[in-house]
Amino acid sequence: MRIVLLGPPGAGKGTQAKRITDAYNIPHLSTGDMLRAAASAETNIGKKVKETMASGKLVPDPLVRAAVIERIAQSDARHGFVLDGFPRTISQAVTFDDLLHTEGVELDHVIELHVDEEVLLDRIVTRAREAAQAGGAVRTDDNHEALKVRIDAYREQTAPLIDYYRSRNVLKSVDGLQPVDSVTEQIFQIMELFDSSVPNTRSTNASTLPRGCSKRWSQTSATSAQQFSSIMQAEPGRGYGCVLR
Ligand code: ADP
Repeated sequence: MRIVLLGPPGAGKGTQAKRITDAYNIPHLSTGDMLRAAASAETNIGKKVKETMASGKLVPDPLVRAAVIERIAQSDARHGFVLDGFPRTISQAVTFDDLLHTEGVELDHVIELHVDEEVLLDRIVTRAREAAQAGGAVRTDDNHEALKVRIDAYREQTAPLIDYYRSRNVLKSVDGLQPVDSVTEQIFQIMELFDSSVPNTRSTNASTLPRGCSKRWSQTSATSAQQFSSIMQAEPGRGYGCVLR
């Protein structure tokens, strides 16, 4: 299963990606982590990446693209991955589509963790403070100044991807303000219900029920958390909806 997690800094992408990795045994590909590794190298490129990341701006496309192409080609990512932090611009998304197309594969889900901007600053400042109190490392870009740049970059360059993927029918939205476990539960439900590895997932035929469903399911396309939960509550007797076991 190939999944992209979309959402602003502080939305919880990293946390949810790790949970998906543990539950479904697909690798977590974080461009932030890849670039932080590149930044730790004492090379000219490493220094440049480090500077850019500390400022909160986006690292130039060719570098990110190269890192993603290299990582996705590794054997553990052949049958699936959860991507966190990429694509982050329309241009990266178009390049990524081309790459997947060349490989003859496609994205199963782009899951947006929706969080209002006002709470992001607070969340990240708290995260940095807690990391410091626990004696852990605080990210060089988890400060007010860089955070504002990161949030602006999200609004201007990444948020347009929501419409981009919605128009391709792969977008699902989850309310990222819910408790962490509820967000995870909703993501898992999306993955189970729309599991493309289950043949004819959208059939009403009982013999082709999607994994995790005890009742029948029919043609529908949930593209928002609200729609999704109404599908979950729908009466199976009416010929639509999937009731989880
Ligand atoms: P967050 O989502 O909390 O901002 P990440 O770890 O995903 O954190 O990203 C940290 C930084 O890494 C970004 O601010 C940016 O400088 C760089 N980065 C990560 N992914 C990309 C990308 N796809 N394109 C450009 N820069 C990126």
